[in-house]
Amino acid sequence: MAELLALEEALERVLGRVRPLAPETVPLEHAAGRVVAADARAVADLPPFASSAMDGYALRASDTPGALPVVFRVAAGIPAAEALPAHAAAAIATGGVVPEGADTVVPIENAGETNGRVEIPDAAAPGAHIRPRGGDVSAGQTVVDAGRRLGAAQIGALAAAGVPHVDCARRPTVAVLATGSELRSPGEHLGPGQIYESNRVLIATVLAAAGAVVEQLPVVADEPDAHARALDQGLAADVLVSSGGVSVGPHDLVRQTAEELGVEEVFWGVAVKPGKPVSFGVRGDTLVFGLPGNPVSSLVGALLFVRPAVLALQGLADPRPELESGRTPVALRRNAARDEFLRARRRFEDDGVVLEPVSGQESHMIVRAALADALLHVPRGSGEIAPGASVRYLALA
Ligand code: AMP
Ligand code: MG
Repeated sequence: MAELLALEEALERVLGRVRPLAPETVPLEHAAGRVVAADARAVADLPPFASSAMDGYALRASDTPGALPVVFRVAAGIPAAEALPAHAAAAIATGGVVPEGADTVVPIENAGETNGRVEIPDAAAPGAHIRPRGGDVSAGQTVVDAGRRLGAAQIGALAAAGVPHVDCARRPTVAVLATGSELRSPGEHLGPGQIYESNRVLIATVLAAAGAVVEQLPVVADEPDAHARALDQGLAADVLVSSGGVSVGPHDLVRQTAEELGVEEVFWGVAVKPGKPVSFGVRGDTLVFGLPGNPVSSLVGALLFVRPAVLALQGLADPRPELESGRTPVALRRNAARDEFLRARRRFEDDGVVLEPVSGQESHMIVRAALADALLHVPRGSGEIAPGASVRYLALA
């Protein structure tokens, strides 16, 4: 690890190796969180016809103020059979088709109906309370651009525009494994020198939220055959993520084993703290990430490198981590060589977000990290960031 790669360069090298996955057709009800592969276009105008925005009376603005006979009633879904005669009004429900001839709707609150006549005391404006046909979107126009991830509003929009299914990249499969002879699963008894294994569920949580289909492989002992079996199995996925065993110790077997299995290493060692010994390679179309075993290092590595790759595989327009702006309440010493990510708690104040670093910033302190809701980015450099200065952070879900 003679030369550490700059953080931005490492991410570019990862993204440079991503080949977006082929699209498949996804019914709308299963499309939450999926990324649209080709522009999704409206099947119909929305609204499909000029419709009333209010319960009221459809009429001609030029007949107001005045009193008019109510000649028919329009309910939602049941258009009038005929046009509105001259100097007449039609009662209309919200969502009803505005009859031919009417150019305004007067809300019920601004009208008084007695004995089949409606009294309109004030002049109505043409077009008022009418939703024009195609006012939201016209048939054939794009509802959701390719590369966007589908949330509630986008899925609702597609349904409203008559789109029953949408082309989305296949969800990437991710195999997650943890190496370390000292690791036991929660629920098991801890023998001497053993610790609980946290990184598989941690990494799986990050990546499942990014749209991956995650499979957790068994814990792998620090022994070459066990590594070979586990990595070989994991290489069948679109993405293989391992934790532990990527440093320089005699029991760090991940990189060597990966190489023996034909993985081409793209980089090892990034100028980032925590997470420096992260490795990345490829075999065929499979992306292979080796995250360091300290749990906070695995968390940061998963967020900074693997999550963007999982999003890019799905064709997301910009898969890079989205840093937001806030302020530091305390002085922050910069690291000359490495970008640092401090675990911090956000405080929402009138003039913005204040990021208070939590106590206990060592990379094994995952419980301290769990008190945080942000990773505060301290760019590499000299000197200090002054209290009150603007900083950037990555929100933690
Ligand atoms: P390594 O990267 O394998 O050198 O591990 C670094 C440190 O993280 C050691 O203290 C390991 O015991 C610990 N560690 C490694 N993997 C895990 C894991 N999956 N869960 C919790 N701690 C781990
Ligand atoms: Mg280890």
